[in-house]
Amino acid sequence: MHSAFQPTASSFFSLPKKMHWMALLSGLLGTVIAISVVHVVIIKHEREFLRGYSEAILNRGLQANKESRLSLKFAQQSQFEQCSPEDIEYLRESLWNYDFIHDIGRIKNGAIECTAGWGLLAEQKKLPHFSELTPDGYQFWKRLKDIPTEGITSNAIARRNSIAFVSHYVFKNLPHNPEFIAAVLTTKHSDYIYKTFGDLTKQQAIELLKKKEDPFFWLPVKGRQIQTQLCTQGSTVICTTATDSQLGIFGISNTYHAIIIVIGFLFGGILSLLLSFARLRKNSLGARLKQAIDKKLLHVQYQPKIQLQSGMIIGVEALARWNDEEYGYVSPDVFIALAEQNNQIKELTKLIVSKTLSDMRDYLVNNKAFFVSINLSIQDLTDSQFLLFIDDLVQQHGIRPEQLIFEITERSAADQDAMSNTTKQFVKKGYQVSLDDFGTGYSNLSWLSALEADEIKIDKMFTQAIGTDSINQNMLNGIFQLIENLKMHVVFEGIEEQREEDYILERSPNAIGQGWLYSRPVLAEEIGKLLISQPLKKTHA
Ligand code: C2E
Ligand code: MG
Ligand code: MG
Repeated sequence: MHSAFQPTASSFFSLPKKMHWMALLSGLLGTVIAISVVHVVIIKHEREFLRGYSEAILNRGLQANKESRLSLKFAQQSQFEQCSPEDIEYLRESLWNYDFIHDIGRIKNGAIECTAGWGLLAEQKKLPHFSELTPDGYQFWKRLKDIPTEGITSNAIARRNSIAFVSHYVFKNLPHNPEFIAAVLTTKHSDYIYKTFGDLTKQQAIELLKKKEDPFFWLPVKGRQIQTQLCTQGSTVICTTATDSQLGIFGISNTYHAIIIVIGFLFGGILSLLLSFARLRKNSLGARLKQAIDKKLLHVQYQPKIQLQSGMIIGVEALARWNDEEYGYVSPDVFIALAEQNNQIKELTKLIVSKTLSDMRDYLVNNKAFFVSINLSIQDLTDSQFLLFIDDLVQQHGIRPEQLIFEITERSAADQDAMSNTTKQFVKKGYQVSLDDFGTGYSNLSWLSALEADEIKIDKMFTQAIGTDSINQNMLNGIFQLIENLKMHVVFEGIEEQREEDYILERSPNAIGQGWLYSRPVLAEEIGKLLISQPLKKTHA
């Protein structure tokens, strides 16, 4: 006998172990994901940093370029004789206007004759061949050494008879860059390198410029590099190619690596536990019940109702049964309440009604005095479609409505209205109505007669009080008095012992009984055998 729902061992005890493995695996997976996420986030920041760094370089480069051109233009507007004291004074005055030009000079026959800083040179300084000639006619020298005097090295730009010496401070105070960041400032097509930044030899700079951008640079594989190229627009185009050789997670310290691994592991583990709980919930009793209803996996057993005087079966009560693969046998006391809570009861009732009518059809059609009782919930009574559904089925099977008894249980005072309204409709259509579990609800005498029920079923707690000293035994006497005056069939539930039957028969000779003394609930096929072997109990004369 199964009296209550018990979770099966396989479902209950094996799950936590599975969850451990899942948590461990997910921890590892979480670590990989965390590392990848951190890697990608760092790369994003690195790209932004490289861009910002390149922009700063370009900005300074452009400013120096602009100042050199402006200073040369201004120098050429001098009204004075080249390198005359007035001319030199003119150049000196103009120097104040430029942040990145540290000297301006005059050229005569390819040699420097005077500068604002050094005045008229005692010895003219011959200029070497320029490094680059721009399309608009400017000559550019990179690292011009010992000019205008010994020990001075600077970049210079010249046009016609004037030359501007670019300050070393142009690229000073750029944003602080870690040692793995390097950049190259070049002409538009990278054919001329103005300057390199960071730890980069000339050869490495040339190779960097030749390299194409790696589309898979983001893969967390050591040795990959991010490379960005940025150029100015307008008349003077200069470009910066910047690179970061310590990509993403390879650029951070071991402490951070450890932190990421721990967080990733915890995150993965927690996620997996949450998923496992979600899976457990998906496998919850309520979820399994819904599946069982949808797949019509519930079945019905039938328990005979006996006319106690004769011992003859007058009908059966249909009782829903559910054997779940995962949870085993689940008691209707559990799953009916669950279905009511989860709003699945209407579907469940329809399923049980359909199965009952097709199981019992032959007995009902062949014996017009045979009854089938079906349990309903309060929620079924408030479903306006329910009665139509029953009418349809009854017609299909050719069953008389009088042969169906609907058992309803009053569980709260609020149920009374719904019950009395619906019973009237059921009765009008010819169905019978039974008040189940009488004595456990809120019923009083006046309400009982207003209900128009055809039958009341005295709850088994009273039957089982027979022969004891309990309060229920006292109440039982009251119940016998009450039913004496009622024109209803009376059914005693839960008769397990002969003395219970004797006691009932003595006080209520027309009573109907139901209980293990006669038969437990059985499958539909068994009912046929019981009908043949009746009377189930010897007649009490
Ligand atoms: P119920 O309608 O009062 O049904 C009688 C209960 O008493 C059944 O329990 C039956 O197996 C049990 N029973 C019968 N004879 C004896 C006996 O001699 N001794 C004892 N101790 N018990 C006996 P079951 O099948 O576990 O059903 C429990 C309750 O679940 C039912 O009480 C009914 O309220 C509900 N139920 C069952 N099937 C359905 C259904 O299809 N729809 C609805 N709404 N409720 C149902
Ligand atoms: Mg019942
Ligand atoms: Mg009952």
